[in-house]
Amino acid sequence: MSIPHNKVRARIDLDSIRHNYLFLRQHGGNPYPVIKADAYGHGLERVAATLAESGAKAACVGSPAEALALRESGWEGRIVALLGPLDAEDYGCLAEASAVAMIHRFDQLAALAERAGSKPLPVALKFDTGMGRLGFGQKDLIKLAGVLADNRSRLDLAMAVSHLATADDPDQAFLEQQMTRFADACAELRRAGFVFEASLGNSAGLLARSDTRLDIQRPGIALYGGNPFHGTSLEELGSGLRQAMHVSAPVLQVHDLAKGESVSYGRTFTAPTSMRVAIVAAGYADAYSRVLSGRGAEVCLKGSRARVLGRVCMQLTVVDATRIGEVVPGERAWLLGGEGEGFVPANELAGWWGTNSYEVFCVLGLNRREYTDAGV
Ligand SMILES: *Cc1c(COP(=O)(O)O)cnc(C)c1O
Repeated sequence: MSIPHNKVRARIDLDSIRHNYLFLRQHGGNPYPVIKADAYGHGLERVAATLAESGAKAACVGSPAEALALRESGWEGRIVALLGPLDAEDYGCLAEASAVAMIHRFDQLAALAERAGSKPLPVALKFDTGMGRLGFGQKDLIKLAGVLADNRSRLDLAMAVSHLATADDPDQAFLEQQMTRFADACAELRRAGFVFEASLGNSAGLLARSDTRLDIQRPGIALYGGNPFHGTSLEELGSGLRQAMHVSAPVLQVHDLAKGESVSYGRTFTAPTSMRVAIVAAGYADAYSRVLSGRGAEVCLKGSRARVLGRVCMQLTVVDATRIGEVVPGERAWLLGGEGEGFVPANELAGWWGTNSYEVFCVLGLNRREYTDAGV
């Protein structure tokens, strides 16, 4: 699925994903790469195939439907669906995909138990230790242990999971609170006789704290080369990662602006002196947000930076090409990534945009993708 009929292309370097996966495996031991949301906009199938080639035996997706899509792509390893089942269609997808469902409500346990066949179904319990979203709490532990014990022939507790809210923050007090709560929940289940694998750390947890690694880690953003510690004192921890996504659009026209002439809707930019501008075939319909208007955002053009001038339009953006040298129609401007000095890191684009690298990848990845692979 992609934005149709435009000239914007998201180039995905699979060798960077391979590099990042191996980097995380070296640091974490047993990462289950998170490839939810179409692999953060990088494409579920190609990313999964690259991970499988690199030795990954398990992966986390979002919805049960995504679990089935992954299975149908030929993925043979374990699949964990982070969002859990809601309706009959979801339970059907999980069964067809032989995926492990993340469970956060008692009625889901009952529904799964009802659907079990001759062998117990593996389940993953999600605990809310401070994220305040999905999950069981401390108060549910006794009942949980009871339900699981009553259904031993139908349900097999395979994993206990919790998610960290602040693992990218150099102040780790809240992270430690979450670690303690999760350790208590796991200890109580183990005392009740259950044998399972524990999983807590995301990308930031895995890289920042070896004590969040436990049995299984769930890195997402780092796999795609996003540094979760950008702008913090921990930034160095992610410096070995390589950004896999580069997004470009062609220049359609180059022209001069005389001093006092303006560009784009609302005339929010007027040339203070004579300039040369390039008109790039990308705009907010291509997920290059209108929020990027007038914020000092830049693209990479011929290896240098060119500033966005005036308002970003639906399918066009004006950039300053005054000091870029000869630019001809068809030259590609890099909205993200690119080559040379002008390379646009996801976190820098996210800063102009007022968001994070996750959203930058997810939405720019809606454009048509092309894959490169420099090999192992
Ligand atoms: C998205 C997600 C992750 C991955 O987090 P990153 O910060 O991208 O590493 C891990 N666990 C759960 C439950 C998630 O939803």
